[in-house]
Amino acid sequence: MKKIQMVDLKGQYENIKERVNSSILNVIETTTFINGPEVHEFQKELEEYLDVKHVIPCANGTDALQIAMMGLGLEPGDEVITADFTFAATVEVIALLQLTPVLVDVDSINFNIDVEAIKKAITPKTKAIVPVHLFGLAANMDEIMEIAEEHNLYVIEDNAQGIGADYTSKDGTKKKTGTIGHVASTSFFPSKNLGCYGDGGAIFTNDDDLAHQIRGIVNHGMYERYHHDVVGVNSRLDSIQAAVLRAKLPHLDAYNTARQRAAQKYTDAFKDHKHIITPTGCGNCSGTTFEACNCHVFHQYTLRIINADRDALVSYLFENGIPSGVYYPIPLHLQKAYKDERYNEADFAVTNQLVKEVISLPMHTELDDEQIDYITKTVIEFIG
Ligand SMILES: *Cc1c(COP(=O)(O)O)cnc(C)c1O
Repeated sequence: MKKIQMVDLKGQYENIKERVNSSILNVIETTTFINGPEVHEFQKELEEYLDVKHVIPCANGTDALQIAMMGLGLEPGDEVITADFTFAATVEVIALLQLTPVLVDVDSINFNIDVEAIKKAITPKTKAIVPVHLFGLAANMDEIMEIAEEHNLYVIEDNAQGIGADYTSKDGTKKKTGTIGHVASTSFFPSKNLGCYGDGGAIFTNDDDLAHQIRGIVNHGMYERYHHDVVGVNSRLDSIQAAVLRAKLPHLDAYNTARQRAAQKYTDAFKDHKHIITPTGCGNCSGTTFEACNCHVFHQYTLRIINADRDALVSYLFENGIPSGVYYPIPLHLQKAYKDERYNEADFAVTNQLVKEVISLPMHTELDDEQIDYITKTVIEFIG
């Protein structure tokens, strides 16, 4: 059996090596390192893939979130509601811009921001909601867009983990995650579903004026050379990363399918186990497998371990050559940087529970059946 890895970037590279190497070499030979044709072509190809009017590439997923918020003109003191159970980047940029982060609990079924908790958290100062499509499954966008419309709020989708997923609305229409809210961000960090070989990110929007605004912000606030109309940043996707992404984008659907098949195999093996809760889909689509729905692209395959020792399971797996991860071990509202006296522990019951129960198993495009069988057998062996 091949050594099991949490993420196998080398195996994936071997399959696209020629194209990647020649594209990178071409950037070097043509010395089009910054804003070269690869960046522009990638932007157009991603717009087409997502069916979104504007993709604005930038340096990483954290910048993408920050720039989206700057583009919307959010101002110090504005409140932005986001999930307590996510990677810190989301809340970090809210705080950096001197906006007020308002963390709320998540849903115990899909791990995404809880719609009722959003409603409770809205005040006259609320300006935006940031749903995160955590682990690759879309948040409840129908309900979130309804709330946003009713209260005149912006919706910024953090799609760093969800690229390529479809969101099925209650009326049956499908859209790619990241094209539903007013603006979205994504990350091309190497281990993400569409990863480059360094840092990269992008902002998506269907709003022409906002896209124009954002294109200036990523380039020092310039709309005309050496005229700085707004305070901007320097955030670029470099041409070598764009070349890698162009080589990988045509494979994104196949990569996500490989993840969904691995997830299906895990889920079938753990079905109805009394100490294990397996991940769900969106609940709106009618497909009977993850592959048929494409509503979950499994950036992570995350189980809840119920009435059993999750940390001992992590150690047991490690001793048996199986890496795993706990995403995320501490709720954001309990992090030193983001503590706030207004928070009430009783409002975070789900997140407080999930941090004790979740475990993410190896998930990447190169997992084979033998490895998955060994992993599931080892989990069940420990947990009984
Ligand atoms: C990875 C990630 C980010 C940040 O992306 P970077 O490219 O590492 O800056 C933001 N939000 C979420 C949910 C992520 O998973």
